[in-house]
Amino acid sequence: DAKSRGRRGASVFDPAMQDEVQDRRSMELDLRAALTRGELELHYQPLLDVESGDIAGYEALLRWNHPERGSVSPAVFIPVAEETGQIIAIGAWVIREALRECATWPEHLSVSVNLSPAQMRDEGLLNTIVGALASSRVSSDRLELEITENLLMQDNEDNISLLHKIRGLGVKIALDDFGTGYSSLNYLRSFPFDKIKIDRCFVSDIADRDDSDAIVDAVVSLAGKLNMRTTAEGVENDEQLAKLRLTGCTQVQGFLFSKARPAAELDHGDAPRPAAHDGGKVTHIDPA
Ligand code: C2E
Ligand code: MG
Ligand code: MG
Ligand code: MG
Repeated sequence: DAKSRGRRGASVFDPAMQDEVQDRRSMELDLRAALTRGELELHYQPLLDVESGDIAGYEALLRWNHPERGSVSPAVFIPVAEETGQIIAIGAWVIREALRECATWPEHLSVSVNLSPAQMRDEGLLNTIVGALASSRVSSDRLELEITENLLMQDNEDNISLLHKIRGLGVKIALDDFGTGYSSLNYLRSFPFDKIKIDRCFVSDIADRDDSDAIVDAVVSLAGKLNMRTTAEGVENDEQLAKLRLTGCTQVQGFLFSKARPAAELDHGDAPRPAAHDGGKVTHIDPA
């Protein structure tokens, strides 16, 4: 029967499919207005240093508060924005907004921004980054851009040279969702990333499956040898955290610590104590 044929077997004239196309078209139009209407918002999820437990920075994650649709997931609207080219304007807004917000945080905190492959093909990207750094007055080493393996699969030469230019500004580059794409190890030779983000799919069953544990362990050790730091994504429970500690990964991120929250709700916690460089004497004491 029709049901058993599933979605892929559906006829071209399937009314449900037509609804989907119309839905996409109307989302495209709505998205065009979303920026000007102020419906886009950044939420921030903390990245914690494993050794100290301190917050090291936040990843900016895009949220769309649509008047009728409610909160629309980036997994739904980012692909539409990419197909229609709207990601260029939206992505530029994200970079400016994230840096504007970062400027209000204590100076040891960084901000990570996701970059889509389409943004890398935009001639204006470098200028957008330079301009946003200048107007926010945030030091360039506090900005980290997250890219995925997809980006390196396309016209390599141009993307790699642009990545070098961005890094030349002092901006950090992280490889996001590591392990989910193709021939990952080759990408580690194509560019000296500052950080590898180990995908949630390996972290989620690290405590239950020896193979996931072995993979995370190997990636952390490989990253270390390549002078790259590591962030484990999607840490949800204490068992996972305990396993991750043993691997020596640099940072952890996940619902165990916090989901992404609006800027106004962030609690940065205590600033890490400055290291003593004069033989252990305390160099800085806050008045009680
Ligand atoms: P991502 O960059 O890998 O971001 C991590 C995603 O995992 C986020 O989903 C985050 O909320 C979710 N997450 C974090 N910790 C946990 C956990 O412990 N458990 C589970 N189950 N999930 C966790 P979100 O915010 O829905 O974003 C989805 C994706 O959308 C992002 O994946 C990123 O690829 C994309 N995205 C988000 N914001 C932007 C943006 O400003 N620009 C671009 N180009 N893409 C963005
Ligand atoms: Mg990311
Ligand atoms: Mg990720
Ligand atoms: Mg992801």
